[in-house]
Amino acid sequence: MLNNIAIPMFNDNYLWLLVSAQNTVIAVDVGDYALLQDFLQAHNLRLATVFITHRHYDHTAGLAQLRAEYPDVPIYGHDSIAHITHILQGGEIIYIKDFGRFLIIDTRGHTQFNLSYYHLQQKLLYCGDSLFSAGCGRIFEDGNAVNAYQALQKIALLPPNTQVCAAHEYTLDNLKFAQHIEPNNIDIAIYQKQCLALREQKIPTLPSILSTEQRVNPYLRCHLLMQRVAQLTQKTLNSPSDTFCALRAYKNSWTA
Ligand SMILES: [Zn+2]
Repeated sequence: MLNNIAIPMFNDNYLWLLVSAQNTVIAVDVGDYALLQDFLQAHNLRLATVFITHRHYDHTAGLAQLRAEYPDVPIYGHDSIAHITHILQGGEIIYIKDFGRFLIIDTRGHTQFNLSYYHLQQKLLYCGDSLFSAGCGRIFEDGNAVNAYQALQKIALLPPNTQVCAAHEYTLDNLKFAQHIEPNNIDIAIYQKQCLALREQKIPTLPSILSTEQRVNPYLRCHLLMQRVAQLTQKTLNSPSDTFCALRAYKNSWTA
């Protein structure tokens, strides 16, 4: 059994660590090298592998120092990112000693290139900023909303009990927007109550469960929201993909 840990990093990021029975570690998105190093030392763990989801600074800023201190540790990611040693594109299955197999999923859209790492046996999804609990990453200049929609469609095909290890603690804010989109969705109110209780104790709301996301996350529910989003945005929407694009753009100008 692998131990999956979320360490708060910067204001609202998480550094995800997967720890094996042999005390080796996979670190996902090393934005803060010192945070990782301190944790490894304090718990007598050995860094085995690094996974990078996308180019943003809060996911990669620790890589230069990590590469210098751990020249033999493989860093997996897209070749557009500096310090990557093992290039992935999406669609691969990779095997990591002590950990088992991961499916690599091309989840581009938030930025031009995004990879998600799915642990096949334990059903853990490290998805960077492509999916958040009750939300999703915004579309940057090099990103593409249709791609982001397709990325979420791929994630939606994973088993319902998949654990979503997203990179930011945005859940409560996202739930306010979700409630605005679906004021009569009782699952949103229930989940919000659970998440509020967790945050009061400073406990992460992540990982969340994919089946929960499918009940509360508007970006995974675009096939149900075409009419509502058309009404809110005054746009003609012809497909769930159109709905996603309009909804994601609408969120940028929405204030609670
Ligand atoms: Zn990002």
